Amino acid sequence: MSMTVETATLPTLLTALRLPTVARLWPEFCTRADKEGWPAERLLAALCELELSEREQRRIQRHLAAARLPQGKTLDAFDFLAVPTLSQARVRALVEGDSWLQAGHNLLAFGPPGSGKTHLAGAIGYELIQRGYRVLMARTSDLVQRLQVARQDLALTQEIAKLDKFDLLILDDLSYVRKDQAETSALFELISARYERRSIMITANQPFSGWDAIFPDRAMTIAAIDRLVHHATIFEMNVESYRRRAAYAAASSLSDIEDDRDKQQPEKETATAKDNSRPATLSSDIET
Ligand code: ADP
Ligand code: MG
Repeated sequence: MSMTVETATLPTLLTALRLPTVARLWPEFCTRADKEGWPAERLLAALCELELSEREQRRIQRHLAAARLPQGKTLDAFDFLAVPTLSQARVRALVEGDSWLQAGHNLLAFGPPGSGKTHLAGAIGYELIQRGYRVLMARTSDLVQRLQVARQDLALTQEIAKLDKFDLLILDDLSYVRKDQAETSALFELISARYERRSIMITANQPFSGWDAIFPDRAMTIAAIDRLVHHATIFEMNVESYRRRAAYAAASSLSDIEDDRDKQQPEKETATAKDNSRPATLSSDIET
């Protein structure tokens, strides 16, 4: 390619126009176009298409970085057989369809520690970001802390409004938030503000029965639960800790190797579904 005024100014022009992909690829593409005699519009279209697709990728990477999801927790890495009460098809449909997000419907995941709630929530967040949605995941106590600071600065409404840009807000470990009048009423205000507009996913060890310990008073607890469940999909994950089961499985396969006489070792990792109590139904609109 001969050095012309155009080739000299192109990098500056493309940088000013914020077209980093075209800026990177044009020398190679132009050389090829000249050599193979591409029509000018073919060259232009090829460069534009690449810019657009890389722009989309960069956007997804930015949104992933902002979402604070746990690393490596994807749906593909999630063993649905370990949680018989959880329908893989249902979860896959949720990450495909956007009607629930448009309507601000919620997801609630309940189960004991280690049952996979954080993994599932992170995986749902990851899939949604791949499809162009914005997600933020936070430990509920951290977010409540942040709202509390905003409230002290008389900026709670603005802080809650900032979270509006996220189609889905994942509040992990709601049950670890402890009662403190000011803090948890900030949480209530967040739930009210997003009601029927913006979706929330909550994970918690206990279904609603223990939530009196979270909100300042019974009336606020009932009001919060009512808003959360009015349009909600509930995942009940009453299985034994996945970590513990994995540890048992590893231990048992180790002893199989050590003790090669015993080929008939019984399965140790049966899921014990304990306390399968259904959460209180406050509305008829709960899909499970
Ligand atoms: P919880 O949030 O319910 O306490 P986590 O989601 O943190 O549980 O799960 C604990 C660990 O076990 C994580 O490393 C997670 O990836 C893994 N895990 C839990 N359930 C599953 C599952 N069904 N398939 C694959 N890994 C799982
Ligand atoms: Mg967790």
